[in-house]
Amino acid sequence: MTLDYHSLLTAFALSGCGLALTFLVSWLVSRSERFLIAWTLGVSFMALGVLGYSLYAQTMSAPIGAAGYTILLTGLAFVFGAGREFRTGVLPWRSMSVMATASSILMAVPMLAGYNGIAIVLLNVAATIILLITAWDYWLGRAEARLAIGLLTVLYIVTGLSFVPCAILLVQAGEWRLSEAPSNWAEDLNIIVSLTTLAGIGALSLALNQARLARGHKRDAETDPLTGLLNRRALLNHLAGDIEGPVSLVVFDLDHFKAVNDRHGHQAGDEVLRTFSEILMLSGRSKGLAARLGGEEFALLMPGVPLVKAAILADSVRTRLAKRHFAGNGGSFGCTVSAGVSCSEGAAIDFDMLLHDADKALYAAKRNGRDRIAVSSDETEFLAHMHPSADGQRGPVDLVRVKTG
Ligand code: GH3
Ligand code: MG
Ligand code: MG
Repeated sequence: MTLDYHSLLTAFALSGCGLALTFLVSWLVSRSERFLIAWTLGVSFMALGVLGYSLYAQTMSAPIGAAGYTILLTGLAFVFGAGREFRTGVLPWRSMSVMATASSILMAVPMLAGYNGIAIVLLNVAATIILLITAWDYWLGRAEARLAIGLLTVLYIVTGLSFVPCAILLVQAGEWRLSEAPSNWAEDLNIIVSLTTLAGIGALSLALNQARLARGHKRDAETDPLTGLLNRRALLNHLAGDIEGPVSLVVFDLDHFKAVNDRHGHQAGDEVLRTFSEILMLSGRSKGLAARLGGEEFALLMPGVPLVKAAILADSVRTRLAKRHFAGNGGSFGCTVSAGVSCSEGAAIDFDMLLHDADKALYAAKRNGRDRIAVSSDETEFLAHMHPSADGQRGPVDLVRVKTG
């Protein structure tokens, strides 16, 4: 059995409806990616427009032709909008309106004036342009998923280019008042290509959406909701990758934090946690990974940073927090932090050992009076790097000899 042109148009309309339904259900399930709504509308309009065109080909009624093509062009504008919204998160209403209105008017005027040949050429040109712009838009966002977005770009380009021979054959024929809808190899090719790429574009768009959702879930699972820092699990995941050279770890613990909560309220306590996280993030931005290990305990993991530098950085975090003032139930208050620093020099990083050493140093810092940094090191020369404060009473960093490794 051979398929005639109208069966192909009907097949396009039906598969478009199926895809639109799939996109709608995908959106209803997650309700996060709104580009799915634009896609649903775009494909629905396109399916309706193709049905309108099929009716036009049977009746050759100019108003039906103008209406069918207007719906089709509106659908294409929505598909463009969905692509832009996928990349930027914003639906480009203005560009979509200009695209749909300008192309529809350009097509409808000659169609209603009886020059349906011109109208069909303009429709094909407009479809090519809109689809190529859509392809370009996806290409701009290829960094998110190179293979899938690259393929999607190719499919949009192929679909767009399949409209070109339809326009060329009409122009070559030079007939501007057609008594019947064009029927030639270019029209057949165009509908077969569109039918094939529609399925591919739909499947790839859904796959991209799923991949994005999965990345979002992973990010949520690795992020501490109060502070936005990585959580302990995320820190461990990062450690699973290859790290070369020395790795320093600083474990921070806010001092007397239970008392802060008791005296100034939990909200004020949360504010201290957020502020400390900001300080930590800014201080460690270029050097390492900041994480909230849990409660009022934080970590700064610094690959490639030796012990001395890590201790100095930890101390600058400590002083920055000490300078801040907070408002709570008991009036204005300040908060201090203690930290333990450890460093692993070997090629293989044993995070448990690193954490164990940093924790030991942290307890020593707490024991020695809090609001200070202690390092875990058996190198006596470490002291030479640390300059005592001006009054000679207390150096910026306490040396705690905890045998490393
Ligand atoms: P130390 O100086 O020895 O570390 O004393 P501490 O009071 O800081 O230590 P402790 O472990 O006794 O108390 C930690 C407190 O941190 C208890 C808990 O209520 C508080 N905390 C843990 N997570 C949160 C949080 O998300 N928000 C607030 N506001 N408080 C928290
Ligand atoms: Mg603690
Ligand atoms: Mg504490």
